[in-house]
Amino acid sequence: MKRWDGILIALFLLPAALWLLLQRPQPERLLVNIYVDGELVSSAPLPAQATALRIEGVGGYNLLLLEPDGVRMQAADCPAGDCVHSGKITRAPMAIACLPHHVLVVLEGAAETGEGGVDIVAG
Ligand SMILES: [Zn+2]
Repeated sequence: MKRWDGILIALFLLPAALWLLLQRPQPERLLVNIYVDGELVSSAPLPAQATALRIEGVGGYNLLLLEPDGVRMQAADCPAGDCVHSGKITRAPMAIACLPHHVLVVLEGAAETGEGGVDIVAG
């Protein structure tokens, strides 16, 4: 399942990726997976332009800022605000957790398929 999802995403993204390549170097494609209370509520690639995304967590909200090169928690109404202070994540498999709201934001590398040659990347 996961492999096919990756292929579909790669096919869907290919024209956009090519277009992006003309604009700026894109070292790796990353998916932003958002979990609330253990459930995957959103899975999308990093956007070409900065985009704010409001997440309805458990007992509060989180405002996520998706940027072409990473993700950070811009605002939240959790008591400690640790998620906001944790800064920007830019690589897989980094994550931002908001424990009070049961929100987990994980960067994942997109499947490396459909590119013709396969680069073996260790680590
Ligand atoms: Zn928080």
